[in-house]
Amino acid sequence: MNNKNFIYKKINEDIKNKKYKKIITRFAPEPNGYLHIGHAKSIFINFEIAKYYNGICNLRFDDTNPNTIKKKYINSIIKDIKWLGYKWNKKIKYASDYFDKYYYYALILIKKKLAYIDELPIKKIKKYRGNFKKKGKNSPFRNRSIKDNIILFKKMKKGFFSEKKICLRAKINMEAKNIILRDPILYRIKYTKHIKTKNKWCIYPTYDFAHCIADSIEKVSHSLCTLEFQNNKILYNWILNNINIKHKPEQYEFSRLNITNNITSKRKINILIKKKIINKWNDPRLMTISGMRNKGYTNKSILDFCKSLGISKQESIININVIKNFLRKDLDKISPRTMGIINPIKLILTNIKKKKNIYIFNHPNNNNLGKRKIHLYKKIYIDKKDININKNIKYNKLKLLINNKFKLKYSEIIYIKNIILNKKKIKYIKCKILKKNNIKKKYKIIHWISKKDSIKTKFIFFKYLFKKNNIIKNNNNKFLKYLNKKSIIKKIGYINKDILNNKNKIFQLEREGYFKKKIKNNNIIFRKIISLKKKHNIYKIWKKKI
Ligand code: ATP
Ligand code: MG
Repeated sequence: MNNKNFIYKKINEDIKNKKYKKIITRFAPEPNGYLHIGHAKSIFINFEIAKYYNGICNLRFDDTNPNTIKKKYINSIIKDIKWLGYKWNKKIKYASDYFDKYYYYALILIKKKLAYIDELPIKKIKKYRGNFKKKGKNSPFRNRSIKDNIILFKKMKKGFFSEKKICLRAKINMEAKNIILRDPILYRIKYTKHIKTKNKWCIYPTYDFAHCIADSIEKVSHSLCTLEFQNNKILYNWILNNINIKHKPEQYEFSRLNITNNITSKRKINILIKKKIINKWNDPRLMTISGMRNKGYTNKSILDFCKSLGISKQESIININVIKNFLRKDLDKISPRTMGIINPIKLILTNIKKKKNIYIFNHPNNNNLGKRKIHLYKKIYIDKKDININKNIKYNKLKLLINNKFKLKYSEIIYIKNIILNKKKIKYIKCKILKKNNIKKKYKIIHWISKKDSIKTKFIFFKYLFKKNNIIKNNNNKFLKYLNKKSIIKKIGYINKDILNNKNKIFQLEREGYFKKKIKNNNIIFRKIISLKKKHNIYKIWKKKI
């Protein structure tokens, strides 16, 4: 990472001034969904900063809302971080590890007349809070005695009240310009069993109250988050300054990662799942970490991409081709080559006497990936698109194809003798091997597989889930309007059966792109990961201000 960005500069300064003994960062996801590419950016930043300064990075689950968190999300997040290659410091931490402490600090605020129990219904709390134009209004319960507040808070903890009837609020300033400071809620009642603390608690701290305290307890030095928390920083500091806690981390914000034709929001992904538009969080069309892994992304390509992003405060949208270029570069190195025919058409070589054996390296520059043997037999498959036969071909034009010459990749030069039709459709093509050829002449090279060497394969192609480049501005459910209804395309073709003996999962189908092999009930499936074409000039258009 370019370590000249503002966060590194600040940390260098803090080290120079001996502000912190050790650089400690944390990644603190809420286990209410799977991680996505935006989280990868945050993971990369937090873990790499810790590594660079010889510090540590904690993994802390923000499990303060029992209604949204699930064990399966915790497991998936752990799996994804490990897969990305990061190791957190010691044991995994949970915000709920400190439930006793938040409660203790809440009592301190009450005792300092800095927090009170409010009995205004939630709707009224919202109304009283005002807005950017309108100042807030004090709750009639704002000036209870310390004693009454303590009694009520304890009763709240014991389950005397129903949900949403009563809450604990900080007493700051209902007229503050920053609405966050208009007596924010610190604790609310939730009668939901918590995955870790079970039924021990029925009051739960809000994110704002718990987060800064957990950071402080863990001696985090730099608490890094995304820009939407910029306004909360003042509350983060207010809480730490008023609860008599020694260690004071500092919060820094950076911009969220957005990617063209994609969404990076758990809330929105959840909507897609609930509406059954996609099945699971690891759908290959999603940019969740598990979806990307499932599609065929390597962890290296994701990290290289994150590294190229740097850290800034400029909200932008990154062209998806940027990450694709990193993936392409990585897959090129590790993928054995093979030939597959996606739009097959049969071809018969009438003058071949016996099969020809051909030996090829599996990779043009990496002999470690081994060799394979292919055979040229009488019957082969080639791709329709190589001889410009598409659905709309005029049949009288077929004649023009006669005598056309091609070079079969790694093998002979052939020419078309005859095209055999059946009910106006091409049944097969008869060809001859050109015996005397002019070696210097260049012929169009086409791909092929011998029928005897081929296995039937289902090809699956994933298109973008969204047709529009920039959909992130749609905060409501409008983004669904831009769904690409044809984001999965399936075709039946053939692939060289040499792939069955190769343990690799990812192959480069020469000329077609990178594919992931799957074998399901003896059926071969090749799912496309990415094309071969590198997008040039991508760096010119890769980042758009939004
Ligand atoms: P979402 O909006 O997808 O629900 P979130 O911010 O609520 O995301 P958390 O689990 O709270 O998700 O996030 C953990 C960390 O990851 C936070 O520090 C958050 O700022 C960061 N993060 C989340 N989304 C992005 C993103 N798109 N780009 C960069 N960092 C992100
Ligand atoms: Mg969240």
